[in-house]
Amino acid sequence: MESPDHDALLRRHGLQVTAQRLAVLRAVAERPHSTADDIDKVVRSEIGAISRQAVYDALGALTEKSLIRRIQPAGSPARYEGRVGDNHHHLICRACSRMVDVDCAVGYTPCLTAADDSGYEIDEAEVIYWGRCSECVASSPVPQP
Ligand SMILES: [Zn+2]
Ligand SMILES: [Zn+2]
Repeated sequence: MESPDHDALLRRHGLQVTAQRLAVLRAVAERPHSTADDIDKVVRSEIGAISRQAVYDALGALTEKSLIRRIQPAGSPARYEGRVGDNHHHLICRACSRMVDVDCAVGYTPCLTAADDSGYEIDEAEVIYWGRCSECVASSPVPQP
């Protein structure tokens, strides 16, 4: 199924519309917080003839144009999502690596107001809350060291 929205989105950002980019964009939109490997698997199962490098290139181009967002949690592979521009944050489970969205605690952009910005022009505050998800807590009440 083709997505006319994604076609227009690519064009509006000056990107050539290709089957690869459309497939990557769709995969990211449908599976938020997937790793590049996950996206690679999904896209390959959909359109087959695509190299891993092409998938990574598409992810890079889409990220650069802010059509998707790349989240880089410490010590784990980057994740990609289609929810961009709303300054939301993330919760990550240390046990199973599940990642979920959490709306900005303060509001739309107030958390971008650093106590001391050292003269930087800030455009994003990436907050990651680390812990254990409810399922992991339920299955193992004592945290693993
Ligand atoms: Zn978990
Ligand atoms: Zn998210």
